[in-house]
Amino acid sequence: MTKNNLINPGVLEVICGPMFSGKTFELIHRVEKLKYLEGSKYLFFKPARDTRTKKVKTRFNGIEAGCISVKKADEILDNIDGCDLIAIDETQFFQKNIVEVIEKLLKSDINVIVAGLDLDYRGEPFGVMSNLLAMADHVEKLFATCFHPRCNRKATRTQRLINNKPAHYNDPIFIVEGSGKEIYEARCIRHHIVPGKY
Ligand SMILES: [Zn+2]
Repeated sequence: MTKNNLINPGVLEVICGPMFSGKTFELIHRVEKLKYLEGSKYLFFKPARDTRTKKVKTRFNGIEAGCISVKKADEILDNIDGCDLIAIDETQFFQKNIVEVIEKLLKSDINVIVAGLDLDYRGEPFGVMSNLLAMADHVEKLFATCFHPRCNRKATRTQRLINNKPAHYNDPIFIVEGSGKEIYEARCIRHHIVPGKY
């Protein structure tokens, strides 16, 4: 049963875009509104960067949400008793079985909202996000502003820089500590540079 337009049972919504496009902000903003909706239960998840499952705070522009950090996607299913809505951030870092977990949530009449990077620094689909974008009932693509000097066009790509040079297509995803300084920028398609790609 639809309680209102804030909770859509069995519906998958995807919020995606490059880094610096405000995905976490949009996700928290969407979920925060439920605070004032009597009887609604929602939970916020994200993948753990270490081996522990724990409650953490996620924060963006001063907005804070309680969040459960999980090591494996199926741990989400242990935590959903009575939930109307599940929000998942940084979804691109989950393993492939997040797809199965999300389908189970949807079949249990839960509204699932996921946020994540649609493309990796090479401009290619980021892991499970391609599956989730195909499965989605509603997709919101966010954009940033290109970091390139005097460009200001819509940024749809994430540029990876190692020692201020565009990262090579075959560079390892995780660089060895001390081997270089790594930063990320939002770039438009014209200024998104990936040596070795074509
Ligand atoms: Zn640009």
